[in-house]
Amino acid sequence: MNSGPADLRNNTKRAMRDRFPHRRRVLLGMAAAGIVTGMASSPSLAATAPFRRKLGALEVFVFSDGTLMVPQSFALPDNAAAEIASLLKAHGQPEEFSQSQTNVTLIKTGNDLVLIDAGSGPNFQPTAGKLVENLEAAGIDPAKITKVVFTHAHADHLWGAVDDFDEGARFPNASYIISAPEWDFWMDPKTAEKAPDWLKGMAIGTARILKKIENKIERRKAGDAVAPGLSYIDSAGHTPGHMCVMLESGKERLLIGGDVFNNGVISFARPGWRVGADFDHEKGIATRKKMLGLLAAERMPLIAFHIAWPGHGMVETKGTEFRFTPLS
Ligand SMILES: [Zn+2]
Repeated sequence: MNSGPADLRNNTKRAMRDRFPHRRRVLLGMAAAGIVTGMASSPSLAATAPFRRKLGALEVFVFSDGTLMVPQSFALPDNAAAEIASLLKAHGQPEEFSQSQTNVTLIKTGNDLVLIDAGSGPNFQPTAGKLVENLEAAGIDPAKITKVVFTHAHADHLWGAVDDFDEGARFPNASYIISAPEWDFWMDPKTAEKAPDWLKGMAIGTARILKKIENKIERRKAGDAVAPGLSYIDSAGHTPGHMCVMLESGKERLLIGGDVFNNGVISFARPGWRVGADFDHEKGIATRKKMLGLLAAERMPLIAFHIAWPGHGMVETKGTEFRFTPLS
């Protein structure tokens, strides 16, 4: 019997599939919603070098966790493909989008090395879960991460918090921070019961993973400092306890936007369009507009999780619209 590393990996994967049926439910749920399609042909950003900048005394990096397939019909359920295409074309973009980036921010602040979100790990979509690989390629040992601050607890932000075997913490020396309303929402058994099909498996998986890291997790509220120079900003809508993270050093500020923005054109030019993945659509729209107003008025740079790599840029008003200008 061949028991080489390849067999071991395959056997491990099989064992994980059997032991963690929620993954299968997630994929089935997402397939039913048209979310998981054509994943195999999608290129990943494995071993992508980090984006880096300074913000006062803070060192800010963006690492890729890979890419996700999110079909337009799910992302923007109310808008016809032709309407989306004409808006994208008018902004000089390809007329269709379905691939989403996953831009994870890392901040060196004081004695802390803080990750904002943990990526999705290996059990979500095969093109994602590249964060640790990309950290290690840049010489950053996951054991050196001191804090992981979650914007929210969807799979692509939380599930990377546990290791490949879904057992131990992926960042063994880190404490974890989540907003109290986000924790309460996902830990309530009614959340999975009431969730729409696409979210059901994710809700079960998320509750399991939160339980796994429960002894290392701190629950915080909007306005709280989560690390030196970092604070939680209420931005509920995408999920009930979604938080942006404000970075501040001297007179400089930068916003980590989480999932308030999901496309580099549409979230800015049409912030009032309903987003399929938002839990509360009206609140999601109100939050997006409020954050756009803040970013434009204060000329504050933004790092957004799902927009084109590395998701870093400025927001400006352009007539009656907002516009995102990437900076790299
Ligand atoms: Zn997300």
